[in-house]
Amino acid sequence: MNLLIPEEVRDACVLLARHNNQSFIVGGGIRDLALGMQPQDWDLATDARPREVEGIFKGAGYRVVPTGAKYGTVTVYINGLPLEITTFRVEANYRDFRRPSRVSFVSKIEDDLGRRDFTINALAYDPLRSLFCDPYHGIEDLVKEQIRAVRDAGERFSEDPLRMLRAVRIAAELGFLIENKTKHAILRNAELLRNISAERIRDELNRLLLSHHFYQGLDNLLELDLLFAIIPELKEGWLFSQYHPSHQYTVLTHTLEAMRYTPSNLEVRLAILLHDVAKPRCYSRGDDGRGHFYGHNVVGAEMTEEILRRLHYSNQVIKNVVMLVREHMLELKMGPAGQRRLIARVGDEMLPRLLSVRLADIMAHSSSQVVHSLKEYDHFIKKLEETLSEGGAFAMKDLAINGSDIIEEIGIQRGPIIGKLLRMLWEDVLDDPVKNNRDYLLKRAKNILKRNFHR
Ligand code: ATP
Ligand code: MG
Repeated sequence: MNLLIPEEVRDACVLLARHNNQSFIVGGGIRDLALGMQPQDWDLATDARPREVEGIFKGAGYRVVPTGAKYGTVTVYINGLPLEITTFRVEANYRDFRRPSRVSFVSKIEDDLGRRDFTINALAYDPLRSLFCDPYHGIEDLVKEQIRAVRDAGERFSEDPLRMLRAVRIAAELGFLIENKTKHAILRNAELLRNISAERIRDELNRLLLSHHFYQGLDNLLELDLLFAIIPELKEGWLFSQYHPSHQYTVLTHTLEAMRYTPSNLEVRLAILLHDVAKPRCYSRGDDGRGHFYGHNVVGAEMTEEILRRLHYSNQVIKNVVMLVREHMLELKMGPAGQRRLIARVGDEMLPRLLSVRLADIMAHSSSQVVHSLKEYDHFIKKLEETLSEGGAFAMKDLAINGSDIIEEIGIQRGPIIGKLLRMLWEDVLDDPVKNNRDYLLKRAKNILKRNFHR
């Protein structure tokens, strides 16, 4: 096999060989190369101890950073390319489902490969001798396009339950299936995922949501009982009928269906995943027998905030996704003043994301409803483009006057009243952009003061 391995990687292997050490390309790098894909990063395994690795590369003038010295990993930079070089090791005693409490260095690559999660990640390639080391038949699984645990799947997942999520994520990235025994072991161990730290779960979930086959990934999460281990609230919508002509699907099926129509954007995908999370809690049945879910967007926004905080998302992501969930019911019949208020509330950066959420939601309604809703949506977009092009004070700072103008021209003192006044003027201008001129606004400010604040 003629593999495109960068000179820098070869140079590192040559340097280790000169010091009588073995070295192999391992991990995602060799897996991706064998699949004809461009590797994201390069991992090397060697029998040299971390201190020796440091000494060898420093001695040759390269920058060396002991990134995970305790676990045997040293990062070396060759022409700016980072290479993670890890000493052959085995792991023992997964004390808290997080990190092995002890690692021991070993001298054979086969032993090192035995501690790895999946056969396609347990491949090693020696670029100097052009030799594969593949004791767990990873190449065969690459050809079969399947994810299979190394050795006993149940044992591997109980050592580190995050591997279950990695299986689904890697399958979703590569478009692979998960082999049956591995699948069954996930089903048996899914609950253990609750012991894993929120950050590790979040990072895998993000990669899954942005993967090429993310829909299949979500389906796997559901089928393998991992989805409810990550977000238990979603279980409330499972098999929950909606008793409404717009909805032929149950709440969770509608949610997953809507995911199909989302663009590759993390916030949009998180928002769609959670947009109807509160529906079961807000359910009521009208006299006509129809299901109603009044306020599910507001309760959903609160639940979303709680869920995303628990998963340790950043404040920025939480703020944006909560807003998308709260606004997801976006009324398509609103007129220009409503649209201006919408733009003001949501901001022009988030507006396209909100529209994606709305569209995905529409696409997952009953097929009888979709054509009609799409027409409404198209009409709304046309009108929104007109509203945007007409311009206007979409932010308070776009008003034709500011706080200093009010203080100077009307002669009142600085204080909270200025903010209140500006807010009221802004409301006026959102109703009618023509009013955004200095004379009108100053006159209006005086009137408001006279009427509301007895001046
Ligand atoms: P990518 O870099 O694209 O995420 P990768 O497979 O290289 O994919 P890394 O996180 O860089 O992923 O890990 C490198 C290798 O370390 C993996 O291929 C796998 O062999 C091993 N590995 C990583 N995490 C685990 C784990 N939780 N359990 C067992 N082995 C693991
Ligand atoms: Mg890697």
